[in-house]
Amino acid sequence: MGKPTGFLDDARRGMPSRPPLERIRDWSEDHPHLPLLELAEQAGRCMDCGVPFCHTGTLISGMASGCPLNNLVPEWNDLVYRGQWQEASIRLHFTNNFPEFTGRVCPAPCEGSCTVGISGDPVAIKMIEVEIADRAWNEGWVTPSPPLTRTGFAVAVIGSGPAGLAAADQLNRAGHQVTVFERAGRIGGLLMYGIPNMKLDKGVVQRRTELMEAEGVHFVTGVTVGADVSAERLVADYDAVVLATGATLARDLPIPGRELGGIHFAMSYLRGNTRRLLDGGADAEAPIDAVGKHVVVIGGGDTGTDCVGTAIRQGAASVRQLEILARPPDARQPGNPWPEWPKTYKLDYGQEEAAALWGADPRRYQTTTRRFIGRKEHVTGIEIAEASWGKGADGRPELREVPGTAQTIEADLVLLAMGFLGPEPALPRAFGCELDARGNLRSGPDRMTSVPGVFAAGDCVRGQSLVVWAIREGRMAAEGVDRYLMGAETVLTT
Ligand SMILES: Cc1cc2nc3c(=O)[nH]c(=O)nc-3n(C[C@H](O)[C@H](O)[C@H](O)COP(=O)(O)OP(=O)(O)OC[C@H]3O[C@@H](n4cnc5c(N)ncnc54)[C@H](O)[C@@H]3O)c2cc1C
Ligand code: SF4
Repeated sequence: MGKPTGFLDDARRGMPSRPPLERIRDWSEDHPHLPLLELAEQAGRCMDCGVPFCHTGTLISGMASGCPLNNLVPEWNDLVYRGQWQEASIRLHFTNNFPEFTGRVCPAPCEGSCTVGISGDPVAIKMIEVEIADRAWNEGWVTPSPPLTRTGFAVAVIGSGPAGLAAADQLNRAGHQVTVFERAGRIGGLLMYGIPNMKLDKGVVQRRTELMEAEGVHFVTGVTVGADVSAERLVADYDAVVLATGATLARDLPIPGRELGGIHFAMSYLRGNTRRLLDGGADAEAPIDAVGKHVVVIGGGDTGTDCVGTAIRQGAASVRQLEILARPPDARQPGNPWPEWPKTYKLDYGQEEAAALWGADPRRYQTTTRRFIGRKEHVTGIEIAEASWGKGADGRPELREVPGTAQTIEADLVLLAMGFLGPEPALPRAFGCELDARGNLRSGPDRMTSVPGVFAAGDCVRGQSLVVWAIREGRMAAEGVDRYLMGAETVLTT
């Protein structure tokens, strides 16, 4: 424990950010950094409590409490406090293949279960993580480290999101020859084409991919498994296969007027925008542009926030966000005690930017959408109504429209960001893998599916989740594959 009284002496300082009205002028994730001494001070707020919860990664009430990767948070906090940054980097990479991703985009369940947070502001764990990760790259501490020997086994990983990348990284370290198949033109899955540039610079993803390539991982892009190469071919050519294809089936809103032009799934919008930024629009999918438009985002989650931030940068005339749930409380409620994930109100970057531009959080809570209204086959508005939540006859929460509250709001671009239903079923079917009742791939604790030698990891197993869980899943699948191939000689443990 670096500084016994750190949490008493020093107030929390989170990651500094540029003012909203400045950062909306570009797509950069650039932000100011705390000086080294202040970072050490922040790390010194960790009290290395007897039983730390920040790295437990358990599920309480269905939500993560503590780091799902079991990151050794108190240990690297102590090392940062003592100025031993390279040691801290080694300790961080021990459990986390890609701290430069999680340090940028993780919602930090570790902080929700930090013991200092019981009676004050938690340690700024995520900020310290990304500072360690970036410093390691900047100082040249992260260098290719190929395995010393090869096992002679070949593994195919399908999908290059964080789950596929983590599985590939671990398996390559264990000496297996890994080939990653990706249908998109670039590696990274939602790290590349979902999460926008201002949250995660694409150079950061590219840099990691190049390192893995230098370590011996083989990447094949622009190949859809199941169409360009068959499941049978992969099973015949490889000793094991890992499916890490994500949960890409978007939830639709089948209300009257859905067929009108100008209504798009959030991912089509975000992917097109990232492609335009990366490739200058030289792409088959015409990007959707919000410039001068009245944009309504349906869905109040992270994907919706990314649509808000993107539409603002494109120059939207206005942005509104509709959320069916009630506004969360400002502080923890008795039914949501520490160390659970705090279900409290948060102003994320997109909403903060909208508030700076137009004076208020763009989210409108407890709102249902009744129908889309249009002219000349294009959407011009949405009929909405207020909603309240009650209990249905079966005791489960039931949404009720508040009579007399219907109104029409202007909209010439509508973005549907209401979550994802699960993985596309064609590929699991091609491999003969069973799905569970929710349509996700069924797999055991070793992530083996119902087909021997075929493993699964990430959102295609959990449903749409988080980068940190995807990395965890990839590590679990890699351990399962290694054990399947090597038996008692297995070297990987999560
Ligand atoms: C807009 C958006 C923003 C998000 N923001 C955050 C955030 O800020 N923080 C956070 O923690 N999480 C965030 N998430 C969730 C997070 O990105 C996912 O949980 C995570 O990427 C899942 O990783 P994965 O590897 O399982 O799948 P994915 O990242 O979805 O990758 C799956 C890959 O498989 C490929 N693939 C699919 N089928 C085939 C096939 N047949 N052949 C070849 N390739 C195939 C796909 O092209 C894709 O590249 C966000 C999600 C979205 C949609
Ligand atoms: S990966 Fe996420 S949960 Fe784990 S320590 Fe980092 S910010 Fe916290």
